[in-house]
Amino acid sequence: MSHLFDVYPLYDIEPVKARGSYLWDQHGTKYTDLYGGHAVISVGHCHPAYVDALTKQLHAISFYSNSVQISKQEELAEKLGALSGYPDYRLFLCNSGAEANENALKLASFHTGRKKVVAFTRAFHGRTAGAVAVTDNPSIVAPVNDTSHVTFLPFNDVEAALAGITDEHCAVIVEGIQGVGGIQVSSDAFLQALRTRCDETGAVLILDSVQCGYGRTGKFFSHQFSGIHPDLMTMAKGMGNGFPIGGVLISPQFKASYGLLGTTFGGNHLACAAGVAVLDIMKEENLLENATRMGDYLMEGIRQIGGYKELRGRGLMIGIEYDFPVKELRNKLLFEHKLFTGVAGAHTIRLLPSLAVGTEEADAFLQALETEIHVLTK
Ligand code: PMP
Repeated sequence: MSHLFDVYPLYDIEPVKARGSYLWDQHGTKYTDLYGGHAVISVGHCHPAYVDALTKQLHAISFYSNSVQISKQEELAEKLGALSGYPDYRLFLCNSGAEANENALKLASFHTGRKKVVAFTRAFHGRTAGAVAVTDNPSIVAPVNDTSHVTFLPFNDVEAALAGITDEHCAVIVEGIQGVGGIQVSSDAFLQALRTRCDETGAVLILDSVQCGYGRTGKFFSHQFSGIHPDLMTMAKGMGNGFPIGGVLISPQFKASYGLLGTTFGGNHLACAAGVAVLDIMKEENLLENATRMGDYLMEGIRQIGGYKELRGRGLMIGIEYDFPVKELRNKLLFEHKLFTGVAGAHTIRLLPSLAVGTEEADAFLQALETEIHVLTK
C-alpha cells in the first residue's frame, strides 16, 4: 500500500534522468517528451546554464525571508518586464499558478472595493479555494468553493461579455488559451470586448497566462496577438522550468499592496535564480521564435496525417480533438512509441513540449501518430 494520498492516476513509469526533450526511466528506457511535465519544462530538462545557475545559488544562499533585500527578485522582475513587453508593470512573486490567481483576485477586489467576479465556461484557474471558485467544474461542491459571487459567461462570446460584465464586478478572469478546457483559443474580438467592457465598468482584467504564457505561443503572452493590455497577468509553470515559482504582473495603476499580499517562500533566492536563468536562456536561444517555428512544423505535420475532428492551438500549445476517446491513443504513444503526451478532456491529445523542442522530437511524434491513426481509423 502506498503511503501517499491518492490524488492522480499514475503510470507505472519513473523518469530518473532527463535532458532537453528526453527522459529515461528506471530501466534505462528513453522517452521523447512532448508534454514538458504539463507546460512546466520551458527551456528543456536540465539545461546546463539552468543547472549551473541553481547550483551556484544553492552554494551561496538558498533562503532567508522577505524582511531582507534580495536583488535576484529585482533582476527577475526587470528581465521579465523587458522580455514580455511590460517594462512598466511590477511583479509580485509567489509559488504556483493557483496562488498567483488568488492574489490577482484579491488585488482586484481591494482595488475596486467590489467582490463579484466574471469567469468563463470551461475555465481552469487552479485548486485553491478562490481559484476553484472561478474554475468551471460542476463536480466541486465543497464549502470553500463559494461561487455565489462568480458568474460564468460563455467563452469567446462577445455579445454575452458585453452584456454580462457590469460595474458590480471587481474582476474578469480569463485564460488567453484555455488549457485544461481543451486548448480553446480566445478570439481577438473576444479579448478586445473584455478590455472595452472592463474599461467601461472599472472591472479589472486578469489574464491567466499560467499555461499559455511564458513564450509558449511564440509571443510572451498569448493575448498579445490581440493587442490588448490586461491589468493583471498571472504566470507560473514555465517560469521556473521545474522549480516552483509563480507571479503576477501588475499594471502601474495599482499603487499599493493593501497589506494582504505575501507568502513565506515567494521570491526566495533559489526560485529567483531559476527564474532569471529561464529568461536568460529564452533570450539567448531565441526560444520564442523556436516556439513559433516548431509549432507551425507540428501543426502542419498533424494536418497532413489528418483523421482528427479539430486541430486547435498556437505555437507549442496544441490540441488535437478526435471523434473517439484518446486514452488508448495516448497509451500507445507512451508504451509502444515511448512518447509523453497529455490529454485535455476525453477526446483531445494535448502537446505542451519545451520551447526548445527540435525537429527530431517532432518527427518522432508525427511518425508515431501517423502509425497509430492509420490503425485506429482503418
Ligand atoms: N491556471 C491555469 C490556466 C492552469 O493551467 C493551471 C494548472 N494547470 C493553474 C492555473 C494552476 O496552477 P498550479 O497548479 O501551479 O497551481
